[in-house]
Amino acid sequence: MTKKALITGVTGQDGAYLSKFLLEKGYEVYGLLARRSSPTTWRLEYLDVLDKITLIDGDLTDIASITRALNISDADEVYNLGAQSFVATSWAQPLLTADATGLGALHILEALRQVRPQARFYQASTSEMFGKIQEPMQSETTPFYPRSPYGVSKLFAHWMTINYRESFGIFGCSGILFNHESPLRGIEFVTRKVTDAVARIKLGVQDKLSLGNIDAKRDWGFSGDYVKAMWLMLQQDEPDDFVVATGRTTTVRDMCKIAFEYVGLDYNDYVVIDPKFYRPAEVEILLGNPAKAHAKLGWEAKTTLEELIHMMLDADLIRVKNEIRS
Ligand code: NDP
Ligand code: GDP
Repeated sequence: MTKKALITGVTGQDGAYLSKFLLEKGYEVYGLLARRSSPTTWRLEYLDVLDKITLIDGDLTDIASITRALNISDADEVYNLGAQSFVATSWAQPLLTADATGLGALHILEALRQVRPQARFYQASTSEMFGKIQEPMQSETTPFYPRSPYGVSKLFAHWMTINYRESFGIFGCSGILFNHESPLRGIEFVTRKVTDAVARIKLGVQDKLSLGNIDAKRDWGFSGDYVKAMWLMLQQDEPDDFVVATGRTTTVRDMCKIAFEYVGLDYNDYVVIDPKFYRPAEVEILLGNPAKAHAKLGWEAKTTLEELIHMMLDADLIRVKNEIRS
């Protein structure tokens, strides 16, 4: 029997990689498509999966549309990747973030409880829930201390997933994923902002790169590796929560160094600090311990930060060249 999966946030970075991954596993893939004024399917086109999946109109803030999507898709597995996912924006739009990122997850859980309780559920939790870290290396047992409306909203969704598992027996898993990037990462996130700028500087169409706190440290992995961990969680006998990370942390500064060096430039000559990119409350450092995912799921990160940044830069160099040509 062909398995069916419903993905919210299908037009996002992870939605595109997960669609490709599940199609390769033989799944029938459905995606919840939020209405926007312009097309949002460019990532699905980039990975050549747009015409292989079924899109269902709907929004995380509208439980009726989620129930409808569950009924249409008959999903065996539901991956909740939809969110207002950019930390900086969550201070500008805290209520929207709480609605989509926090309550959105509860809408799915409640819809599952009512119409499809047998389906397995994946919640896209985040290392941002650790925020002001309470242990040097964060694992599934580390206390949370979110530092943004985004982190707080995700923590609500995380605990709701656990609560619906304990209250109603929903097979709900929460993947506490550390930062993961790719050539499909949104341009506002720091890795992609850097690789796009380095490509532009190298090709002579940009002079400087303005950044905020370049001493912040992140545990960065590749999205293509991380979507496999999501799927593995839903294939286990029992639902559980897992940290997914590389176990290595790097400053934004050193990540810049890797990117500029790849095209033969020195980041010191181009990076300028603009306090407008500072955050009202910062997450200074994140470092994940993926031991449980390794032991129980047999999962580990395959792509190094250097390989990731080079992959992103190769893609951005092509994009910028095409832009200049047209
Ligand atoms: P993206 O920002 O690339 O994608 C977010 C997706 O959510 C988009 O498809 C977006 O649709 C959709 N969306 C936003 N609001 C709504 C809504 N109200 N109803 C329906 N869909 C909506 O995120 P990523 O792919 O990077 O991340 C996937 C998930 O994992 C997110 O929940 C994110 O918070 C979480 N996460 C990500 C990490 C990372 O480092 N990438 C780390 C840990 C967790 P549209 O295209 O129309 O805007
Ligand atoms: P986040 O970890 O989900 O917030 O992912 P981001 O890629 O947005 O940010 C990672 C880190 O880079 C944070 O500590 C930011 O403060 C820091 N940073 C420094 N300069 C910038 C910048 O110009 N843009 C972004 N997005 N982050 C920056």
